[in-house]
Amino acid sequence: MLKEKLYGKTLNELIAVTKRIRLPGYAAKQIADWLYKKEISSIGEMTNLSKKMREILEADYELGLSNPVKSAVSSDGTKKYLYKVLNDKYIETAYIPDDDRATICVSSQAGCKMGCIFCMTGRQGFQGNLSSNEILNQFRSLPEFRKLTNMVYMGMGEPLDNITEVLKSLEILTSDWGYGWSPTRITVSTVGLKGTISDFLEKSRCHLAVSLHSPFDEERRRLMPIQRTNSVREILEIIRNFDFNNQRRVSFEYILFKDLNDTPAHVKELARILNGIKCRINIIRFHHIPGSGFNSPDPASTIAFREALNTKGLVTTIRASRGEDIQAACGLLSTLEQNKHISQ
Ligand code: SF4
Repeated sequence: MLKEKLYGKTLNELIAVTKRIRLPGYAAKQIADWLYKKEISSIGEMTNLSKKMREILEADYELGLSNPVKSAVSSDGTKKYLYKVLNDKYIETAYIPDDDRATICVSSQAGCKMGCIFCMTGRQGFQGNLSSNEILNQFRSLPEFRKLTNMVYMGMGEPLDNITEVLKSLEILTSDWGYGWSPTRITVSTVGLKGTISDFLEKSRCHLAVSLHSPFDEERRRLMPIQRTNSVREILEIIRNFDFNNQRRVSFEYILFKDLNDTPAHVKELARILNGIKCRINIIRFHHIPGSGFNSPDPASTIAFREALNTKGLVTTIRASRGEDIQAACGLLSTLEQNKHISQ
């Protein structure tokens, strides 16, 4: 019989577990402590539960942690890990050390439905939603787990297309009974889904990053098919009307493609559509991917684009490209792994 995984369950779900197998109510909080505050590797180590209670628990449940199956290290220290999920799929997790910060970039789905044309994961198509267990296992089973200071949901998949499991994982990360992380250490990235963005804004306090990539509807539609049904105008309207507190941040991700979205007209239109939103823009130089037809802009024109936006009053930074030598662009490594298994 396949056992259910305890890791990744919220406190309410653990209370339901204790009810189901008739353990005393207080055991749920003790189990949460073992899962999220101590680094155990088996239910047997939950020593403040009686032996009998542990046996009852072990009959139907397991801890549910699994190590990455593969890793690659970049010359700049970035590491990419491959985890096996949903029986036979692969997802990617990146570890990005940077001075006093150490960021993990997690995946929320295997593959993705959104079909952004510049993205390798998009080309894989959708393969399944990750459970809260599979999202958080990337964090907990990361060899550098103890060094982590920040977390971004910017790996494979669209987090707001898997909102229930993503919200559960955020609850575990930020609750006192869980990891107790400040929500300001966590950023969730989205292409902008109008059906679930309000849920995310209301039910979590984590930072939001919207993938923008073009301020022009038609051009954005070509890059990101989601623009057809979820226009950026609608998303900006929701953001404008939401009351962000001082600590919560909205940012816009802007992948810069050479001779495509790097013109003065783009700067002007960005300033127009973002007018009145307290935000920052993160420019990411496009990472070349095979057969994409897009090119990376040179460093000088990337800096010039940033300066032009700053001059318009838009706080803009350039995100350093990391791990290019290990194919850190989202989806590359797992595509190679998947293809290898298909051709075997
Ligand atoms: S960029 Fe993100 S949302 Fe778009 S296809 Fe890739 S993983 Fe999906």
